[in-house]
Amino acid sequence: MSFPYEAPVSQSLFDRASAVTPGGVNSPVRAFRAVGGTPRFMVSGTGPYLTDADGREYVDLVCSWGPMILGHSHPEVIAAVQGAVARGTSFGTPGAGEVELAEEIVARIEPVEQVRLVSSGTEATMSAIRLARGFTGRPKVIKFAGCYHGHVDALLAAAGSGVATFGLPDTPGVTGAQAGDTIVLPYNDLEAVRAAFAAHPGEIACVITEAAPGNMGVVPPLPGFNQGLKDLCSADGALYISDEVMTGFRVSKAGWYGIDGVRPDLMTFGKVMGGGFPAAAFGGRADVMAHLAPAGPVYQAGTLSGNPIATAAGVAQLRLLDDVAYEKVDAVSAEVRGLVTAALAKEGVAHRVQAAGNMFTVFFTDAEVTDYDAAKAQESFRFTAFFHSMLSQGVYLPPSAFESWFVSTAHDTAAVERIAAALPAAARAAAGATA
Ligand code: PLP
Repeated sequence: MSFPYEAPVSQSLFDRASAVTPGGVNSPVRAFRAVGGTPRFMVSGTGPYLTDADGREYVDLVCSWGPMILGHSHPEVIAAVQGAVARGTSFGTPGAGEVELAEEIVARIEPVEQVRLVSSGTEATMSAIRLARGFTGRPKVIKFAGCYHGHVDALLAAAGSGVATFGLPDTPGVTGAQAGDTIVLPYNDLEAVRAAFAAHPGEIACVITEAAPGNMGVVPPLPGFNQGLKDLCSADGALYISDEVMTGFRVSKAGWYGIDGVRPDLMTFGKVMGGGFPAAAFGGRADVMAHLAPAGPVYQAGTLSGNPIATAAGVAQLRLLDDVAYEKVDAVSAEVRGLVTAALAKEGVAHRVQAAGNMFTVFFTDAEVTDYDAAKAQESFRFTAFFHSMLSQGVYLPPSAFESWFVSTAHDTAAVERIAAALPAAARAAAGATA
């Protein structure tokens, strides 16, 4: 498709970036490859808005892929960061900030008795899996097609064809041996999980699942799915790991656990808990966490783990996230979902807005999306047209049809009105799109 609007400064930055960085970006989806066009290089963010290098302002519906739940440059978070920076940037020793952040997490999420801080969600899931294997003495891991747990080698394994299958690596650089102990199953299919446990009794260390998936677009667990996973794990002696990197502290004070109440053995966190800085964590049962070095034999470490600036930002952000804040984010999310549905329905565009708490995705299909195959069956070419229309009108959506949209407490009436004003033309663009 052609792009009637230009972003010359972003384009020149992208050209420079492409000369020195593979694909011009430091995380693939930022490159706009799924939708085409020039990725916008952002220079500042305030409240619900981002401003790009060409001076154009956008209502931000990505929120840094989830973390910015208070909007950009929240004054209290910025003040906490400035205070921390003034005291020094990294000590390589224990510090009070990491105790405070760990206490915030443990206080909010009842199954988390002990927590270890790391620097990215990828590190959190990688370490949780190592710990599960170390604790159980078992090799195999069950994951679900369409669930993303960061770029951990063993978890970059594709699905088979709807039946329990050993994972095949889906990126060069991951060996068969690294993915060979990964069993990839269709999401929301408890029978497949039951069959995998029956086929490998006493061999499965853990099941890892996104608490409510947002990485194939938002596909919430069907009623009873998470509880079923937990029960199958308990019956076999495997651990149930709930990946709350995306949902944690976003969909409620206690994340998805606060909504479905299914008690994991281990959990992983990231995004919101870092307040826009690299901070992540894994935690859970004290008897399991006791196996982690230096308390126990399973090794895990990090030069910048518990970094004082990241923990100051995280503590400040979490302390601001009270019930009122979540009510606000939920209400804005419901409002935007309603506006999108109304605009697309008016143009007769087949679509389905799926939500998990305040996270949501607009799928361009009539059918309910309960797994990755269903997500892939949508008419994503309509999303491309919709995306570019919104972008040209100053609304920044995730540049892929398979991502969650995020809002914040800062999305006020003025921001929502800008979204509402952009939607009719975007819905017409989606209606007129061709594959
Ligand atoms: N787990 C989930 C559910 C995620 O959504 C992500 C990132 O999007 C990760 C893990 C990996 O986190 P990070 O990008 O911080 O490594």
